[in-house]
Amino acid sequence: MKKFNIITYGCQINEYESNKFRETLQNLGFEEVDDIKRADLVLLNSCSVREKSEEKLLSRVGFVRSLYEKNGFPKSIVTGCVATTEEKKIKKIGKDSVLTILKGDEPLNERREKIFNILIPVSADTMTYERTKGKPFEFVPVMFGCNSFCTYCIVPITKGREKSQPLDKIINEIEALVKAGTKEITLLGQNINHYGFDYGNKNGLIELLEEIDRMEGIKRIRFLTSHPADFNIETLKRMGELRHICPHFHLPVQSGSNRILKLMKRGYTREYYVSLINEINGLFRDVSITTDIIVGFPTETDEDFIETKKLVEEIRFDKSFIAAFSKRPYTLAAKMDGQVEDKVKKQRLNELLEVQNDISLKKNRVYIGKTVEVLVESFGNGLTFGRIPQDKLVIIEGKAGNLGDLINVEITDADFIHLRALPV
Ligand code: SF4
Repeated sequence: MKKFNIITYGCQINEYESNKFRETLQNLGFEEVDDIKRADLVLLNSCSVREKSEEKLLSRVGFVRSLYEKNGFPKSIVTGCVATTEEKKIKKIGKDSVLTILKGDEPLNERREKIFNILIPVSADTMTYERTKGKPFEFVPVMFGCNSFCTYCIVPITKGREKSQPLDKIINEIEALVKAGTKEITLLGQNINHYGFDYGNKNGLIELLEEIDRMEGIKRIRFLTSHPADFNIETLKRMGELRHICPHFHLPVQSGSNRILKLMKRGYTREYYVSLINEINGLFRDVSITTDIIVGFPTETDEDFIETKKLVEEIRFDKSFIAAFSKRPYTLAAKMDGQVEDKVKKQRLNELLEVQNDISLKKNRVYIGKTVEVLVESFGNGLTFGRIPQDKLVIIEGKAGNLGDLINVEITDADFIHLRALPV
């Protein structure tokens, strides 16, 4: 039997797409192996949000080539964001070991069809893509691409313009997942607040959420990633009435300085962002708020950075994903004057991480002594792992419940990343 290995870089959309490619390859009779050296085919699903992940991809393409030249296998299929912009580089590095390059802005099903047609000359409509068993939680992309063109971001270039999936297709997919035992669904989109906009429906996201909320068997609904500028209060109020929406909002703020936000073309001010968070806190009980922050954006001064630090202290995010600005090709920010030195970026990154970790620790410790509901996601080393609706990871002593169960636990300890618990 032919063997394949999949390596995924980047975001949850890539994870989702890789699962779909996995199904395609399994439908073709391929068997998955962990070791790249045993594989006949390596599928590399790339990410170009940061320079490092692009470098990793290219070095992996080179590694596959060295194996191929030595042993006659494996060959690679390269897809995702780097495949969209760096076809020439990939071919130059991978030479004959590259079976095909599938650009990340092509629709997923077209890429799957291409894989199918390359690997076996059978009509694509004979393919069956059934998921076999329900995982406790699943990601479901509802749209691809982005129209926002934030000046630092390569996504609109690599993934193309926004394209929403039809509502009935999404509902069918989720119904099948829930029927198979999935309890929690996370809807994915680069700017999920724009779901349906390309069909002329400005209420697409909330209508979709309302429809899923009514579904028999669904227990938790999440969605990623929101754009603060595109959230309206009416939508938030309607979300507040849903039974299964999780009290967790991931709202990337990126900077606390209005001057930098303008240069990033984010379309909102610090004051607007704070007012949005206040609305959310007023509408949802025990809500957790997480964010993304970039430090060292071109021309960022100490004062701008202090504004960001103050914002983090004011909002008290549950968690921040903080990154140093990374120049991405084809973006406006890469060409801006006033690039910040790496040393300064690193200092700011560490300083902000320290502030955030301290806040995260304090916010997590508030849970100690409380009884919370956990969705059991996995087991290992005599422990049970799961998440609470606020998206915090809980480590439970011993084996508690079964995969996919919703169980009550008492929080006994916390650090800045996890909560620790005992079953009740
Ligand atoms: S909204 Fe998000 S995905 Fe779109 S350009 Fe801005 S940062 Fe990139």
